[in-house]
Amino acid sequence: MVSQELITNNWTAADGAALYGLKQWGEPYFSVNACGHIVVQPNGSVQHSLDLVELVQGIQDRNLSLPLLIHFDDILEHRLNQLNNSFRKAIKKYDYAGCYQGVFPVKCNQQRHLLEHLVESGRSWNFGLEVGSKAELLIALSLLDNPKALLICNGYKDQRYIETAILARRLGRQPVIVIEQADELYRIVAASRILGASPLIGIRAKLSTRSTGRWGSSVGEMAKFGLAIPEIKTAVEKLREANLLNSLCLLHFHIGSQISDIAVLKDALQEAGQIYVQLVQLGAPMGYLDVGGGLGIDYDGSRTATAASTNYSLQNYANDVVATVKECCLSHSIKLPTIITESGRAIASHCSVLIFNVLGVGSVPAGIPAIADKEPLTVCNLRHTLANINCGNLQEMWNDALKFKEDALSAFRLGYLDLADRAKAEQLTWACAEHIAHLATHIGAADLPDDIRGLQSTLANTYYANLSVFRSAPDTWAIGQLFPILPIHRLNERPTQLGSFADLTCDSDGKLARFIDKGHVKSLLELHKYKEGEPYWIGLFLGGAYQEVMGNLHNLFGTTNSVHIRLGKDGNYKVDHVVKGNTNAEVLKAMEHDPELLLERLRIASEVAISQGKLIVADAQKLMNHLETSLSQITYHLQG
Ligand SMILES: *Cc1c(COP(=O)(O)O)cnc(C)c1O
Repeated sequence: MVSQELITNNWTAADGAALYGLKQWGEPYFSVNACGHIVVQPNGSVQHSLDLVELVQGIQDRNLSLPLLIHFDDILEHRLNQLNNSFRKAIKKYDYAGCYQGVFPVKCNQQRHLLEHLVESGRSWNFGLEVGSKAELLIALSLLDNPKALLICNGYKDQRYIETAILARRLGRQPVIVIEQADELYRIVAASRILGASPLIGIRAKLSTRSTGRWGSSVGEMAKFGLAIPEIKTAVEKLREANLLNSLCLLHFHIGSQISDIAVLKDALQEAGQIYVQLVQLGAPMGYLDVGGGLGIDYDGSRTATAASTNYSLQNYANDVVATVKECCLSHSIKLPTIITESGRAIASHCSVLIFNVLGVGSVPAGIPAIADKEPLTVCNLRHTLANINCGNLQEMWNDALKFKEDALSAFRLGYLDLADRAKAEQLTWACAEHIAHLATHIGAADLPDDIRGLQSTLANTYYANLSVFRSAPDTWAIGQLFPILPIHRLNERPTQLGSFADLTCDSDGKLARFIDKGHVKSLLELHKYKEGEPYWIGLFLGGAYQEVMGNLHNLFGTTNSVHIRLGKDGNYKVDHVVKGNTNAEVLKAMEHDPELLLERLRIASEVAISQGKLIVADAQKLMNHLETSLSQITYHLQG
């Protein structure tokens, strides 16, 4: 008892924060308070902070159950301002005689409240939007009412898309049609003739810059989008012939998402800068250089050129873009372009936090069973092994335990061992494993045999999470993306367990088993002992980009409840918007089932059962009530 007390007292909230690298990936938005709760500073300053645990409690009091997606609108705004301020500083630092005007790629998060808030907060920066489909174009045309903001049109474009963009100029919008495929040029020429008006035109270049990382194939000769150098040359000639060269105002490139290594970006900038210069020299008016997205997020806080990190800061990025573009253009005495970025991940990631609860914990059954009078030999052998483990014989004892377990299994198969004794044998084997793993912690990892080192993960706990990773963190499954994942309370308590998470789906891929580890990946996370009846809340952070829209309905788990939080003037928070999670009826309809019809069929089936005397009316009623109530409830595990 005493030692347990000592262990607990020996650990502070700061230790908890350090363990999970909170400072490295969370600053300036997330920190910890003395009670061991995660604290959110939505506008990046400690003056206004919210206790995340109290916030989740407050939201639950409003009858919104977990899992819960919390959007902090102030964080979104802060990130947007950070990006713009970084470019402003860079422009000043390098005395850049031009300006910066960013756009947000809608595909990163199309959620209405988020986009509305972004357009509003971006107004003073003339911040615009980037779209890649007709539906996104519709959103952007309708939301983006600032005549100075740009609307960059990427993606495949048919005639209607192009005509829509041309006509929208008369509404005071500024769409730039970026030619991504050679044949789009012909549709632009045709549409301009039909409408007697020309669009603002951009060209996306296929750069040859070396590619790295997960999205490396976004560049190079085989890239999906963009014009190769000969195609760019042809496009310029065709535009000249069609009298449209005067509308060519933008050069675009995009070297893929989550650029980890700034050196890759610099190469691309130099190449694109030269293409820009050439286009001006070929007689295009130009004016905009769009460096695309890819500004990365330091998910693990290691500040390295690894997949979950970046070896540069926001300011480094802005400095490099501004300095490289300036150098390129000045050496050819060309007017400096307005610089456009299409950063999505870098703007949207921090603003959402996903909170889920743990429903229970599964671990190996390692209790030591009581000794009975006459025990089979294998059970006695295992007891003997357990009693004799010491630091000097870990490997030997583990080999013995495995051998005796194997013996027990053979005896069981042949009918010599009953279920109760086989259970004892398994429990004792796991007890040996636990004891060995415990002693192994006193020995340096390098001195341990592989078998023994692997024991810890064999013994690790499975924490059952009220969540579908396919719905709420699809990139963890699809591309092995890492996010910071940690408990949002009990950080002042030493986590004594190792575990990973299994989600609600019946899919063995439905798990969270890769965690950040300072530039590396670990498969087990330090967690607290789960206490039955007490909430254990886990947060998945930095998931504001791409996760919401890419999530799917696997096993028919729908969207979670979500809320938009704003700081009030007095430092309190306000729940600005509530977006209820999908109900069971909604996910059924999404697959074209008619919930009413499903119910009616079951009602008829229960009437038949009643008439056959297999079901009493009261039970039939109960069954129908359960079904009806479930239809109107969210798809996740509900308390009580
Ligand atoms: C996806 C995409 C972006 C956004 O990339 P991030 O890595 O989120 O900044 C920008 N531009 C284009 C053309 C894209 O396809």
